[in-house]
Amino acid sequence: MITLKLVLASRNKKKIEELRTLLSEELGDVEILSLDDVGILGDIEEDGETFEENALIKARVAAKSGYIGVADDSGLSVDALGGEPGVYSARYAAKCNFAGDHDDEGNNQCLLYHLRDVPDGQRGGAYVCAVACVFPNGKELVVRGESRGEILHEYHGTGGFGYDPLFYFPQFQKTFAEVTPEQKHSVSHRGIAIRAFVKKLKEQL
Ligand code: IMP
Repeated sequence: MITLKLVLASRNKKKIEELRTLLSEELGDVEILSLDDVGILGDIEEDGETFEENALIKARVAAKSGYIGVADDSGLSVDALGGEPGVYSARYAAKCNFAGDHDDEGNNQCLLYHLRDVPDGQRGGAYVCAVACVFPNGKELVVRGESRGEILHEYHGTGGFGYDPLFYFPQFQKTFAEVTPEQKHSVSHRGIAIRAFVKKLKEQL
């Protein structure tokens, strides 16, 4: 049997790990390569206006390797903020004057700042994940997964990454930073999108 080879277009180590786990669970015998593994260097400009556009931009770069290129683009879309931080989730800290670093801590503090006057009951939002795939023959597919929760006033838990300590998932009565990776994957935007993607990928193979 030929091992399926996929190139993931991400440099976020924690995200690559999540995607690797999810894809291996769903696809079994699969070799997951990174951009570094196939010698594609440099940053990819994510200038799309939607998660789907950005995922496709990245997957197209990965497909230049000659293998199937896969990318996800994800973020948090908060109702009370008109969908922000949205596609700017990774660099939201830049919107807050007091936040120097564009890292998870800065992003979380910026989110809390923007929600400082928003009461409980109006702090809903969704994690969104688009997964795009580009085949060596140029064929493209893209799917989307969403997971709804509420944004807390302070951190709970130390697991996960990004906004997870603030993202309360009512069904678990915990944040995504307080559950195991397996629990998170079972309901997360990325888990949902990856499972939908794998279903479509299998139809193509
Ligand atoms: P991307 O790497 O361009 O997809 O940016 C995703 C950003 O959205 C991350 O840097 C996080 O800030 C946020 N994000 C996406 N998915 C998650 C998640 O599962 N947990 C926490 N934060 C997430």
